[in-house]
Amino acid sequence: MTPTEKLLNSNPFEFSGASRALFLESFKENALHHYNNHTFTKRLWDKLGFHPSSIKTEEDLTKVPGTMVHLYKEHELRTAKKEDLVLTLTSSGTGGQKSQQFLDQQSLNNVKKLALTIHQSLGMASDKEYNYLCFTYDPKVANDLGTAFTDELLTNFTGKKEVYYAIQWQEDKQDFALNEEGVIEALKRFAASGTSTRILGFPALLFEMIEKHDIKLDLGADSWLQTGGGWKGKADKEIPKKEFRKFIEERLGIPQKNQRDLFGMVEHGIPYVDCELGNLHIPNYARVFVRSPHDLSLRPKGERGLLHFLCSYNFSYPAPSLLTTDYGRVGECACGIKGDVLILEGRAGVSKHKGCALKALELLEK
Ligand SMILES: [Zn+2]
Repeated sequence: MTPTEKLLNSNPFEFSGASRALFLESFKENALHHYNNHTFTKRLWDKLGFHPSSIKTEEDLTKVPGTMVHLYKEHELRTAKKEDLVLTLTSSGTGGQKSQQFLDQQSLNNVKKLALTIHQSLGMASDKEYNYLCFTYDPKVANDLGTAFTDELLTNFTGKKEVYYAIQWQEDKQDFALNEEGVIEALKRFAASGTSTRILGFPALLFEMIEKHDIKLDLGADSWLQTGGGWKGKADKEIPKKEFRKFIEERLGIPQKNQRDLFGMVEHGIPYVDCELGNLHIPNYARVFVRSPHDLSLRPKGERGLLHFLCSYNFSYPAPSLLTTDYGRVGECACGIKGDVLILEGRAGVSKHKGCALKALELLEK
């Protein structure tokens, strides 16, 4: 087995010396691959005096130069040959900067595997059948969109009965539209079905749907809400997570411990997923560093700064060390799952990224 295969076959929330060494070896393998096969990465790292073979300890990981996320939005950076790519994921932004990631077959297998293992380890996978309501684009028409891909992936972590995609392609309008009536009918149908429900979607969209249509249902104690995409574009209406969880429990009958948020970036691909207590756990498949926005120096644990992500599963897309424009902190959780948690604290700068969540909200407001 290669170091990366070994890593992805290991427990994502085990942080013993041996487990940490697995990430180190895998990262080194990945970084060397990009260094040897991606000219820009080689030139950049050479210029900065960094070589992947210099990674020997956990601390060395903090010395890997980060590449700014903007670069991946403005240029088509890939290590694999175009003909070897099996999937290109993009954010559904309309105009402006577009987030994207390229995957060859092995990298796609890797990201699917790690997403499954993370969800299993957080008690979210099941053999039981669920009805799904996905507040996203039907993957049959939008399979390259990050959110559509994620939602289709997530529905495969349990048995599934009906899957209802709320954002549908309108042939006459040649555009996507949210089928609000369809959503309400699906919720009523699911509540009466005797099968538990899983809702996947943007929190703001779900909140506004419930308010607008005064929805009050009991989907049952084994129903789940899996959110992602944040409150982008609706930050002024953002409800603190605790309040949101209570609201959903009251209106849909979904217990708070079954409400899990997911943070992910198209360019990074590692899912950071909530535990029962609502904290985003960092798996051993990644490292999260926090850097000063002034000089990019490393900030100590608990302090706020720009998020810098390391991952090792993608051999086709040269973003092993991604410096973002998102603010956050690394903290701890009392739930018993090992490792640190990621605390998000907003986005730096004024540039407006029209992500999937915003596009979906526009659909609701039409
Ligand atoms: Zn936790």
